[in-house]
Amino acid sequence: MPNSIPKIAVVGGGVAGLATAWLMAELGREAGRRAEITVFEALPEPGGATRTDIMEGFTCEWGPNGFLDNEPATLDLVARLGLTDRLVKADESAGRRFIYWGGKMRELPTKPPAFLVSDILPWPAKLRVAGEILVPAKRNGAEETVYSFGRRRLGRGFADLLLDPMVSGIFAGDTRELSLEAVFPKMVAMEREYGGLFRALIAKSREAKRTGRKMGGPSGANAVLHTFREGMGELTAALASRLAGALRLASPVQALEVRDGGFLLRLENETVPADAVVLACPSWAAAEIIAGLDPDAAQAAGRIWHAPVDVVCHGHPAPNLGHDLHGFGVLVPRSEGLRALGSLWSDSIFPGQAPAGMKLLRTILGGAHDPAIAELSDAELERTAHRNHEQMFGVRAEPAFRRVFRHPRGIAQYTLGHLGRVAQTERLERELPGLYFTGASYRGVSVNGCAKDAFRVARAFWDQWGARS
Ligand SMILES: Cc1cc2nc3c(=O)[nH]c(=O)nc-3n(C[C@H](O)[C@H](O)[C@H](O)COP(=O)(O)OP(=O)(O)OC[C@H]3O[C@@H](n4cnc5c(N)ncnc54)[C@H](O)[C@@H]3O)c2cc1C
Repeated sequence: MPNSIPKIAVVGGGVAGLATAWLMAELGREAGRRAEITVFEALPEPGGATRTDIMEGFTCEWGPNGFLDNEPATLDLVARLGLTDRLVKADESAGRRFIYWGGKMRELPTKPPAFLVSDILPWPAKLRVAGEILVPAKRNGAEETVYSFGRRRLGRGFADLLLDPMVSGIFAGDTRELSLEAVFPKMVAMEREYGGLFRALIAKSREAKRTGRKMGGPSGANAVLHTFREGMGELTAALASRLAGALRLASPVQALEVRDGGFLLRLENETVPADAVVLACPSWAAAEIIAGLDPDAAQAAGRIWHAPVDVVCHGHPAPNLGHDLHGFGVLVPRSEGLRALGSLWSDSIFPGQAPAGMKLLRTILGGAHDPAIAELSDAELERTAHRNHEQMFGVRAEPAFRRVFRHPRGIAQYTLGHLGRVAQTERLERELPGLYFTGASYRGVSVNGCAKDAFRVARAFWDQWGARS
């Protein structure tokens, strides 16, 4: 069909769907091509989890509170949207991070000598971490959990007290279930190529000195968190406003069929033909949509579990706290018996996210360790968070400001076998050119992962369409 204008349906209006739709239009425009794009979003509002409410001077994030600047795709997307000068960098004080264990707030050291003299781990655990350099590399290629890797290379103390809460802080996940290869592929590569983590860091720092280039950490350790002046919702709001005429809100897609060399989407009261379909909704929704099309891929997508994650935002006058909350926040190992996975100190990370004299605590509860959190009422959830705040931060009064965000299917869990499940969706993409699966369920749970994959889909679409026309 030379020079025809393709009809593209994007299912899901979170950051993944909005970015993919807008990039498809943008990359097409750059190549002198046009497309007729429609984004179908189930809810009456666009943005998915990437939304911000600014209330009484507090900036409350529904989901992501920022993104790291180590993913060029996100920075490229932001620049193309003309939002670079709206970016806000995390304050230097956000370099201070804490772990709460043994009933005490402990600051995470940033340099190896400080690590050795700190109280962040008991002595035997610290020595075991230092012994990582002597641990032989795993030679068989079998998939392993993040916990098994951490325990094998850095010891049980590190795996329980530091690794598990750190991973909970990113994935709300259980290290005993998550696949190392799926969540930290760089660590697999470091062990395979250099024999271990310290060996890899030493080799990379030598290489950096030799070439004068900056060294990247294994999981973005040197990257800086960014948001926008009005919070992360500014990104999805900008995308939604650019796509305004193409957005169909309160329009859940129910099913997908193959029809006449293209696709047919089924909504409640209508069918919509399309030349290409991007399933940018979470994998559990994609599974329902493709159930009749490819039961194997549907089953695989349906098995990517999303753990419930809840967010409690509490504002307190600074004098009502027994801690200065000067830093990024605190993570809590499960052994501590608290339900909070961790708490971020929003206005310390991004000054201005709370009114003068106030502190904004953003506490995350639930995750793979505690799915029963979903059964609590909002009031019970808040009370739980407040009790944890009393214990950890010496909070002396009820919060002056409160807001709760519930995510019953919050964060995708890349458990053992995840890459195989994603491979099923990729097999279907190959079998049905013009069909794409994207979003946080598959190749990266973060906004950065969504942005990177949005470029992949937009480029792949125009490559395929160009080859067809
Ligand atoms: C509490 C929390 C904190 C987080 N913190 C961070 C962070 O600090 N940094 C970071 O990078 N990431 C963070 N994340 C992850 C981040 O939120 C995700 O990467 C991102 O929101 C995923 O976007 P998405 O578009 O894939 O999914 P979503 O935001 O879930 O959007 C999917 C959309 O699809 C729609 N949909 C579902 N079914 C259908 C259907 N049948 N038809 C049409 N539409 C449908 C939904 O209504 C939704 O709007 C956090 C997540 C949570 C929950």
